[in-house]
Amino acid sequence: MRAVVWDGQLRFVVDYPDPEIQPGWARIRVKTVGICRTDLELINGYLGFSGVLGHEFVGIVESCEESRWIGKRVAGEINVACGHCSWCQKGQGRHCPNRTTLGIDRLNGCMADYCILPISNLIEIPEGISDDRAVFIEPLSAACEILEQLTLSGSERIVVLGDGRLGILCAWVLSTVVSDVTLIGHHPEKLMLSAWNSVKIAQDSNHCTGTDVVVEATGSAAGLAEAMTLCRPRGIIVLKSTVAVSAPVNLSPIVIHELTVLGSRCGQFRHGLSLMEQHPDMPFESLITNRFPIEAAPAAFHRTAQNSAIKTLLDL
Ligand SMILES: [Zn+2]
Ligand SMILES: [Zn+2]
Repeated sequence: MRAVVWDGQLRFVVDYPDPEIQPGWARIRVKTVGICRTDLELINGYLGFSGVLGHEFVGIVESCEESRWIGKRVAGEINVACGHCSWCQKGQGRHCPNRTTLGIDRLNGCMADYCILPISNLIEIPEGISDDRAVFIEPLSAACEILEQLTLSGSERIVVLGDGRLGILCAWVLSTVVSDVTLIGHHPEKLMLSAWNSVKIAQDSNHCTGTDVVVEATGSAAGLAEAMTLCRPRGIIVLKSTVAVSAPVNLSPIVIHELTVLGSRCGQFRHGLSLMEQHPDMPFESLITNRFPIEAAPAAFHRTAQNSAIKTLLDL
C-alpha cells in the first residue's frame, strides 16, 4: 500500500505491507488525513517514533469481525489501551501505561491506504459532517478536554496564547461556555481566520494581566513565561502543547502567586463530535490552508512547517 514513513528519513513509499487485523480490531481505508505539529515533532525525533506517520483521519471501515461497522465512515481515538491495568479499569485508558498511540508511539499511523485500530476506538461520523470537518475531531476533542478538567462558571476572563491550530480550537471551544476569551498570536493572517463567536483577537497581551485562566498553546518557554505574567494570583495556567520546553524557565511566579498549572492532552471523541454537531458554523474549513495528494507528503510536511500554515490535509 501507499504510505508516508518516518525512519530517520521522511519517505513516501508504494510498497508498504498492508496491516493485518487481530480479533477486536478494524481495518480502515483512509480517505483524508491531517498533518499536525506533533507529526513535525516526530520527524524531529520526539518519542523516537519509526513507522507510518499520521493520527488524524477520516476513513471507511473495510474489514472487522463486527459486520455492522463495515462500510461506516469513521474517525478513531488514537490511544490504544491494554484494557487490564488499573487505569483501564477506571475507564482512563488514555493514561494506560501500556498504551500505544496511532502514528505516534509503537503503532503505525494513518498516512497510508489502510490503518488499523480497535473497534472500541472508532466513532461513526454522521452524514451531515463532511470529511474535511471530521478530520478536526481529534484536535477539537483535545481542546474539549479543558472543559472536562476545569469547572468554568462562564464569567471568567480567559486568554489563549498561540495562534496555531490547537490555540485557535481551544479559543473556539472555550468561547462556547465563557464570553470573555482572547486569543493572542503573532501572525495577523492566522488571527484573521480565527475569529468566531465572541473570541477576541490580539497581537500582544498588553491588556491581559490579571487573567483567571491562561491557556498556553505556543509550546515555547517564552509562552509559559508570558502565561505566568498574565495569570492572576491563584489563577490557572493550562499547558496544552506536548512540545518539550527545553529552555530554562523561572517557575517562582507559580509559587509566589499560588498558580495552578494544569497539563491537558487528548480528549474524548464523543465530546469533540457533539460540540461539532452543536456548532455547524464553527469554521473549520477556513483553517485548511493547504492540501496535497498523499504522494506529495514530503512537500506537505515542508509547507506545514512554515509559519503561515494552519492545517494541511493529505488526500488518499
Ligand atoms: Zn495531532
Ligand atoms: Zn491499561
